[in-house]
Amino acid sequence: IEERFLEELNEPCVTLDSVELKVMLNIEGVEGHDRMQKSGAGGIGLFRTENLFLSSSTFPSEDEQFEVYKGLVQCMSPNPVTIRTLDLGGDKNPHRSLTGYQEANPFMGFRGIRFCLEHSDLFKDQLRAILRASQFGAVKILYPMISSLVELKRANALLEEARKELEAENVPIGSDIQKGAMIEVPSAAVITDLLADHCDFFSIGTNDLMQYLLAVDRINDRIAYLYEPNQPSVIRTLNFIFKQGKMRNVPVSVCGELAADPLFAPLLIGLGASDLSVSLGSLAQIKYLIRRFSLHETKLLAIRCLRCEDPEAIKKELEAFYEKAM
Ligand code: PEP
Ligand code: MG
Repeated sequence: IEERFLEELNEPCVTLDSVELKVMLNIEGVEGHDRMQKSGAGGIGLFRTENLFLSSSTFPSEDEQFEVYKGLVQCMSPNPVTIRTLDLGGDKNPHRSLTGYQEANPFMGFRGIRFCLEHSDLFKDQLRAILRASQFGAVKILYPMISSLVELKRANALLEEARKELEAENVPIGSDIQKGAMIEVPSAAVITDLLADHCDFFSIGTNDLMQYLLAVDRINDRIAYLYEPNQPSVIRTLNFIFKQGKMRNVPVSVCGELAADPLFAPLLIGLGASDLSVSLGSLAQIKYLIRRFSLHETKLLAIRCLRCEDPEAIKKELEAFYEKAM
């Protein structure tokens, strides 16, 4: 990480036209609390909980999960912590005994919310643990791999069940709990207006959204050259999601790798991202960059990019913007 980025780590994250933007942190496990606190992040934008479940051959209990979530929430308070519910499957090498069988197409298979809705006891344990942790600070619950309204409603129904159970048991839960859907499957992207009525926020997972939209396996080197964010199809889809969110007053954040790409971050902001969530190694640079352009300029950049017909033209726009800002 460059020294000049670190020097400004704790400066306000505001654009040249004085708009404050949050840069949040993506975490995979609970990396040191100290590091997270000193990271300069506005909170945790994505806690991938899979590692908790993959590190041993048995699933963690509700209490074990509660301790982890509680520690994290306390560590980041008063900033919010976004806990993504279990997203096993796909590239998150499921222990074979967990999902039960080997699949020909794991990325199109039994993963994420699909797995959790069929294992509702396990899902509810996790939801209960998260709800219990919410008494210690602001918690956002994020469902992965939502592909239809039915799935979102079923997940919400289980969340309500968990909440009622805890209330009946007189277990305290927080008052600041939001629920949101990952937008990472094209079928979810096209119904963001419908999903918006059933959640408080969206988070775009560009890693999966791109692979499903472009039909390019995100881990297949042979076709990696096709896994290209500069495509008009990708940018139009992102634009559509942000627009729908805005119309329904649902903030849309971005937690896929694209948020950490210094060429793309300004475009995502110009298209309407409420905040960006990036890994620890990219946080300082993205904050540094945000302090060097205006929101107004990013909106003009977005308009220019949306008019482009080919990836090369988009790339040129993004590079020119980046050079000017830095
Ligand atoms: C994504 O798909 O962009 C995302 C953030 O989730 P993951 O990389 O964990 O699938
Ligand atoms: Mg994903």
